[in-house]
Amino acid sequence: MLSFGCRTTHPSFRKQQKMTAAHTHDHLTLDEVAASCRERGLRFTDIRRQVMGILLNSEKPLGAYAILEQMTGDGSPAQPPKVYRALDFLVGNGFAHKIATQSTFTACAHPGQPHTPTFLICKSCDSVTEAEIPSSPIQEAAKATGFKVEGAVLEAEGICPDCA
Ligand SMILES: [Zn+2]
Ligand SMILES: [Zn+2]
Repeated sequence: MLSFGCRTTHPSFRKQQKMTAAHTHDHLTLDEVAASCRERGLRFTDIRRQVMGILLNSEKPLGAYAILEQMTGDGSPAQPPKVYRALDFLVGNGFAHKIATQSTFTACAHPGQPHTPTFLICKSCDSVTEAEIPSSPIQEAAKATGFKVEGAVLEAEGICPDCA
């Protein structure tokens, strides 16, 4: 269970980028991820922080190599395995999700509440929205059988309102 709230503060790491009003990650900040890690006894290493910051700054989900490219800008080239391990950490702890059909990663848009990440993917403009659903069919089915779900992501392809 995550324990950060929904403050709307704008962290300083975003200062180099203009944010749009429709940005879906405004309610999760690096500070909140750091605080959550502290509470849960998780190590928020430099590389994990960098990767999380890149995901929070991105309008769209990013592939591992797109993340890697952004990390080499500060003079310390990052190695792919390190980025993958950081992504594993962020996904495993609910700070980010993997979108399997695109092999991309995105910051969680609904932190602080247990949920099955549910993505609506537009085939036309590639936009991805994390939908808010209180309970997923997977969780319901698992509950009925006593199966303990450790990871599940729902993905739906279609046409977004902007493209319709
Ligand atoms: Zn989420
Ligand atoms: Zn679209």
